[in-house]
Amino acid sequence: MRLYFFGDGHADGSGALRPLLGAKGAELAEMARLGVPVPPGVTIPTDVCAQILRGEWPSTLDDALRDALTWLTAKTGRIFGDATNPLLVSVRAGAVFPLAGTLTTVLNVGLNRTTVGGLARQAGDDTFAWSTLIAARQEFGELVLGIDPFYLEEELDEARRAAGLRYDAPLTRRALEDADRRFSTMHERAPTPPMVDAPFEQLKRAVQAAVASFNTPAAVRCRERQPHHNNAVAVNIQAMVFGNLDAQSGTGVVWTRNRSTGAPGLDGDFLPCAQGEAVLRHDRPSLSIGGDDGARDARFEARHPTVVPTLERLSRLLENHYRDMQQLEFTLEKGQLWVLQTREARRSFEADMRVAVDFVHEGLITAADALRRIEPDRVRRLLHPTIDRKDTLAPIATGMATSPGAATGFVVFHAADAERFGGELNMSVILIKSETTPDDIRAVQSARGIITDRGGLTSHAAVVTRQMGKPSIVGCRDLVVDSKKRIARFGDLELRQGDVITMDGSTGEVFLGAQKLQPPSLPSAWSDLVGWADERRTIGVRANADSAADALLAREFGAEGVGLVRTEHMFFDPRRINRMREVILSQTLDQRRVALQSLHPHQVEDFLAMFRAMDGLPVTIRLLDPPLHEFLPQRSEDLEAIGAQMGLSAKDVKRIAANLREQNPMLGHRGCRLAVSWPEIYDMQTSAIFEAMALALQEGLTPQAEILVPLVSDPAEFRYVRDRIDAQFERWRGTPGMPERPCVGSMIEVARACLLADEIAKDADFLSFGTNDLTQSVYGLSRDDAAVFLPAYMDAGLMDENPFAVLDQRGVGWFIEMAVKKARGANAQIRIGVCGEQSSDPRSIAWLQNGVVDYISCSPYRVPIARLAAGRAAAQSS
Ligand code: PEP
Ligand code: MG
Repeated sequence: MRLYFFGDGHADGSGALRPLLGAKGAELAEMARLGVPVPPGVTIPTDVCAQILRGEWPSTLDDALRDALTWLTAKTGRIFGDATNPLLVSVRAGAVFPLAGTLTTVLNVGLNRTTVGGLARQAGDDTFAWSTLIAARQEFGELVLGIDPFYLEEELDEARRAAGLRYDAPLTRRALEDADRRFSTMHERAPTPPMVDAPFEQLKRAVQAAVASFNTPAAVRCRERQPHHNNAVAVNIQAMVFGNLDAQSGTGVVWTRNRSTGAPGLDGDFLPCAQGEAVLRHDRPSLSIGGDDGARDARFEARHPTVVPTLERLSRLLENHYRDMQQLEFTLEKGQLWVLQTREARRSFEADMRVAVDFVHEGLITAADALRRIEPDRVRRLLHPTIDRKDTLAPIATGMATSPGAATGFVVFHAADAERFGGELNMSVILIKSETTPDDIRAVQSARGIITDRGGLTSHAAVVTRQMGKPSIVGCRDLVVDSKKRIARFGDLELRQGDVITMDGSTGEVFLGAQKLQPPSLPSAWSDLVGWADERRTIGVRANADSAADALLAREFGAEGVGLVRTEHMFFDPRRINRMREVILSQTLDQRRVALQSLHPHQVEDFLAMFRAMDGLPVTIRLLDPPLHEFLPQRSEDLEAIGAQMGLSAKDVKRIAANLREQNPMLGHRGCRLAVSWPEIYDMQTSAIFEAMALALQEGLTPQAEILVPLVSDPAEFRYVRDRIDAQFERWRGTPGMPERPCVGSMIEVARACLLADEIAKDADFLSFGTNDLTQSVYGLSRDDAAVFLPAYMDAGLMDENPFAVLDQRGVGWFIEMAVKKARGANAQIRIGVCGEQSSDPRSIAWLQNGVVDYISCSPYRVPIARLAAGRAAAQSS
């Protein structure tokens, strides 16, 4: 029988033995080897625990445990079961793949009526020792013996009553002794097992209980969710250390760098004279060991002058070893530092980025490592707006700023309301609660921001929102929530459900009403990271932008051009929509030409603005695509009004509009089919493009227009449109600075276009895959209706991802690869892009940049994500 010892600078095990020692045991061994002061202990490995789990207690385990206790005596100078100087141990289960706090830990094993006197002597405090005994009895009763905690509480109440104490008063020394007597005899009256007193028996029972916790429903549920099904459990027996012994003792948690920003320097909290995770519960004020503002509580340093330098040294040691920022839990026992645990620090995404970048500069990791560590989708969380401070009034309340970003919304007080209004109805809501719990996760996802009146930096709302990159404010003391009445009071001010507020998760302030929000800006680490990504990526990143403002934003985010201007969006401007409606409702060519002519200057203006915003970079302008009736008004009075403007009777205009209706508009009169039936529309658009180019050239700019023809399904169709575009160009040919011929490309967004991509490519300068329509076409799945039934496919396990969000590589991807091969075979110079929604999904990008296409084009806010995703994919494959 082999047990694995650790402590005092040595360990039998190491991080490499995780399958045998469990994650916790391996980590303790690793820390001990590094010289981190961990309380000494021993790990019962997974193979032995597997036997115990089967109900077999190995015959040699008793002796092995006795040897372990003797070894612990040598290390601590304390003796297990000794009446004068007792050793107490903790018994902690630890799985190979951690199980999110579902496994059992039993503390203070070895404490009984005999050893309590010894503990009192060690602590110099009789009441402390007896309180510890009672707490230990309760814990042992509940966790090991399976006694309903209600019975134990009942006995405590009895002891209080007998001593004449109030129901919430702490027990006196005599009452504690009485309570222990009651615990020991309660099995005679209540249906409970007898309390176990003998220390060695306690130890064995605690080990059994810890191992058995691997099979509790909570742990099993957690295991079922893990991708690896070969998890196993080990048990660690470790000397107890007490943070609640005296004023020189306490418990703390420390981050090796700032948990919010990632800036160098310790960050954390310390709670004097407290045990275990009390510091995380924030039930009384803790001392700061450095934090957001870098302020250390002088009292901590004054009381423990050597601890901060030691923690700093250990931080460096552990960071160098694990090559990542760490989060340490520690205890001071009579001033002596013990590290109980270290793990990858939980931190904000901003901190994650800064740490990755700083680690590269500090030579701890490579730039490729840094890229691999950053999940591109999380960048979205940094793209949150902030409050424009110019016109902001004073805040109505201030709490702890726990997750950055600003949000405006109407307040709700129940998780269900947040889910309904924020999730189902996609409205902007801010959830105000006393605190959030894991059950509220969907509500937190649905709300724009979270405010709680309780909690601290590590409370549920704070941790969860930080990870989601959603603003949160917790511990907002000016706030009183009455969720029953759906009311919140901020001082004298009363808010009801539906009232609008603005919150700033970066400062902790809450404002009444909708404040002006500013566009987001990326932290300084971003430029290093994205620079490393840009060096590695092998795919261009452009933006889908329909206005100069969007194009400018995209350019700021690093877009290398506009990959798609959906020109139809330009016609929805109130000054133009009626003109467009006249185009559609025109009954003669002349009428249509007149209406189009009035739109022409607007389009010139639009395109010129795009060329200015994207000077020197390509701007891919797609000619009109959607079914025409989409431009017609919904309300009949609006239709009549536009008819009247055109001299049409109400009856006539309704008839014309009815004739435009289609059974399957997405497969109907749209895209380049419009160019065949009503070529004047594309003529107007292309001549506006060329005129805008000429004007841009006069301004000294370098316009690079690429004209994109939508919904092509036949090479002849494309040729037909291209010929008309070329004809329009004749007027501008020879204009100084103009290209020799216009750059014209085809959307590839129906299956037939993929099959004939070689023929299309012969006449095209570029191709752009519209993966939204292509997915619809390849699947035969309506892009507008699929959301209704796709969830059922997911639930039934028939589909892992929505193919309109993540590119379906097997089906749609096969078409793309085939079309690209054909197109490149026919035209070696051809440039190929993708501009559907999927093009910004990191997994799709990883595939696309494998030489499949030359560039992707996505919404401006996704540009940074796409750049990072492409660089990361390259780093991952290198
Ligand atoms: C597409 O179909 O993928 C595309 C980009 O065009 P739209 O979404 O405008 O149809
Ligand atoms: Mg399309």
